[in-house]
Amino acid sequence: MKIKVKTIQDRIKTAAMACDRDPELIRLVAVSKTKSARMVKEAMDCGLKIFGENYIQEARKKIIDLSATPASWHFVGHLQTNKARYAVTLFDLIHTVDSIKLGLALDKQAKKINKIQDVLIQVNTGLEPSKSGISPDDTVDLVKSISTLGHVRIKGLMTVPPLYNEPDRVAPYFRTLRALRDRVIQENISHVDMSELSMGMTGDFEVAIREGATLVRIGTAIFGQRQ
Ligand SMILES: *Cc1c(COP(=O)(O)O)cnc(C)c1O
Repeated sequence: MKIKVKTIQDRIKTAAMACDRDPELIRLVAVSKTKSARMVKEAMDCGLKIFGENYIQEARKKIIDLSATPASWHFVGHLQTNKARYAVTLFDLIHTVDSIKLGLALDKQAKKINKIQDVLIQVNTGLEPSKSGISPDDTVDLVKSISTLGHVRIKGLMTVPPLYNEPDRVAPYFRTLRALRDRVIQENISHVDMSELSMGMTGDFEVAIREGATLVRIGTAIFGQRQ
């Protein structure tokens, strides 16, 4: 795993420098869904510090098992409102907020534990019926609504683009996310921070970096294929 991690880190650096971006501004989220706590520990020992999980139950167990090692846990899966209570106790950043209903549930639970929960707004840039995320056209309104909640803080946007075999075909979707980010910034909404763009996975993270990603979510290239 050491070699795989080093290879990914080098590729991130190379992609950043190729477009004159500071590699330090791009953080690697190691997506460990379905992988064992033992494998995550191995990744921690390779120096990785941020882990992404998709399922609350699975994540909860792993986070408890690995609590002796400092790490930051991000939620990158679809979140049901009835799991908001667990989500706020477990995760530093929730990448997948796409409705006011979910925003309200997180706000309520975060308030109970006296936390301000950092979140990203998930945008369905490809307008795919099978995917979660708010449509690009509705994003600004959702950001405005969620920005009024006292215990949820928006840090940026996230997308999972349509799956193509050629990485370059996903570039327009990443560009859509970046353009939306710029539009939100122009709206000058109080309490909204647009510093993060979560985009790019194993097959397309270099394209995402070129289009402005600050968080790349990589699973397969680090942990191998999932069952
Ligand atoms: C599983 C997953 C990833 C990681 O995908 P890989 O192709 O294995 O790198 C990234 N983002 C989300 C939202 C995921 O569900």
